[in-house]
Amino acid sequence: MLTHPKQMTVVSGKGGTGKTTVVGSFAALATDKILADCDVDAANLYQIVGPTMRESGDFFGAQIPIRDEALCVKCGKCEEACRFGAITAEAINELACEGCGFCTIVCPTDALEMKQITCGQWHLADTRFGPLVYARLIPGSESSGRLVTMVRQKAEDVALETQTPLILIDGAPGIGCVATAALADVDLALIVTEPTLAGIHDMERVAELIRHFNIPMVVINNKYDVNEENSQQIRDYCRQHSLELLAELPYDETVTEAMVKGVPLVEYRDGAVGQGIRKAWTRLAELLGV
Ligand code: SF4
Ligand code: SF4
Repeated sequence: MLTHPKQMTVVSGKGGTGKTTVVGSFAALATDKILADCDVDAANLYQIVGPTMRESGDFFGAQIPIRDEALCVKCGKCEEACRFGAITAEAINELACEGCGFCTIVCPTDALEMKQITCGQWHLADTRFGPLVYARLIPGSESSGRLVTMVRQKAEDVALETQTPLILIDGAPGIGCVATAALADVDLALIVTEPTLAGIHDMERVAELIRHFNIPMVVINNKYDVNEENSQQIRDYCRQHSLELLAELPYDETVTEAMVKGVPLVEYRDGAVGQGIRKAWTRLAELLGV
């Protein structure tokens, strides 16, 4: 009986490196897996894999006080009590509120009540490539790391229920809490980078984060032929840090065409990029043992 599905997260130091193109193609190539889009600020994997919704739900964040204006006598006791400057007799600042509930205790007329706020929605969908779990955070909401953890937990539940050996995670760009939550405790991380100075810098930062978690990692360099000098820097970095450079994918306009049409690249056109992704997936499956 399967108790620990393997988990792999695909990350990029910055947005726009082609991470979702790579994950969308892996979705088509991997035979038995659950897909989890953990880029909760800008989930877009669903656009490539064509989901049919199975289940959805709200994601709740912190509690904040809600005021019944009919009961409020504008005494200002709540404002005096709040150490965070989050409430006055006139307004409540949701972003400054720490959810301690003290204002509800001091209010003489019971005009305040703590309520949980909805920060986003999660979805479990069926796709022709297998189940997909994804979520969307309401812009400006906090707790994005917790929403990622929730997406991963749901993906793991489905994997255990269906005895699926692999969870393929589309991570978030950068090294913030969303990116970090998508990486914690995975078996393998794949960095998709590109040969620009920003791409190299961000690859180094995310590699440092992954190293901190002690997670094995490998690299794909996308659009390597756009700048040979910078691609050489990526090769040198990988060699110096003993990172396997799984593939160097050439620039190809059909990548954008496939994205616009909402089709995984390896299904749209099996040119040099598709071949590179296939080769990378064969090696990844070997590394993951799936
Ligand atoms: S303490 Fe209660 S009654 Fe007084 S201003 Fe605040 S909400 Fe209104
Ligand atoms: S819940 Fe706490 S932090 Fe929020 S407004 Fe009330 S007293 Fe201030």
